[in-house]
Amino acid sequence: MKKIIAVLLTFFLIIGAIFVALGNVNKNNQQTEKITIVTSLFPEYDFVKQIGKDKVDVKILLPPGTESHTYEPTPKDIVSINEADMFIYTSNQMEPWAEKIAESIDSKDTIILQAGQDINLIEIEHDHEEAKDHDEHTADAHIWLNPNNAIKMIENITDKLCTISPENAEYFRNNANAYIEELKKLDTEIEETVKNSKRNKLVFGGEFAYIYFLDRYNLEYATAYQGCGEGAEPSAKQIKEIIDTINNEEIPIIFYQELSEGKIAKMIADETNSQTLVFHTAHNVTSSELENGATYVSIMRENLENIKQALN
Ligand SMILES: [Zn+2]
Repeated sequence: MKKIIAVLLTFFLIIGAIFVALGNVNKNNQQTEKITIVTSLFPEYDFVKQIGKDKVDVKILLPPGTESHTYEPTPKDIVSINEADMFIYTSNQMEPWAEKIAESIDSKDTIILQAGQDINLIEIEHDHEEAKDHDEHTADAHIWLNPNNAIKMIENITDKLCTISPENAEYFRNNANAYIEELKKLDTEIEETVKNSKRNKLVFGGEFAYIYFLDRYNLEYATAYQGCGEGAEPSAKQIKEIIDTINNEEIPIIFYQELSEGKIAKMIADETNSQTLVFHTAHNVTSSELENGATYVSIMRENLENIKQALN
């Protein structure tokens, strides 16, 4: 009899252990149910977080504050992309380094998306000779600075998320629609601000990434730099032209990019009766911006406040 009890006891202990083990497996599954996503730049990072919320685990590849055009991915980056469910970047034009990563990804389970697919690129005219050598820079790639392009990127990301996780499609679409509404409101506010302003020209003394914004709101512009990234530095002649423009048209503000010291813009401001302000391009953010919950919309709203000063 004792023997039978001992056997039964062992049997129940084993069954119990199996249940505990199964429970753990289930728990682990629930933890890994989140879709893991790696993004190249900040706009994609923000957009996919707004759409996926608690169903996604998003990591931005660029360390906070890093320059985005000349970024060199580390072997660790490649591993984290290989392990992710999805890798999102803007376009082959914007992040040539991301295109190289995308080609090297050997995991069939990693879905790769160019969020800017099907968005028309704007060619910018270069008025200096050397620019012809940089054919990558003839088409500007900072598409997200037009809020309507940001909406298209959100739609592209949403479609892809819905194919990865059809059971959450409705959730993703609702979140995307809510964010798109915010962007439409922002777009209308910028449009109204520009319409009701005294001036119609913005002047830039830092790296130039703003053509999609300027084009969207029919703004005129003058820029010292001919582009964004390395090799866009202005000549003395271009700086002189900007100084003349500011003086002749009594322009109050000269803009420069975040994450830069704005040396040229500050020098021009000193030479003229103008002041410098940042026009944030949202390529990337700092750790403190990230901690404070910066979003594409919050960054663009700050830009809007600065633009009001520049146009009035
Ligand atoms: Zn740029």
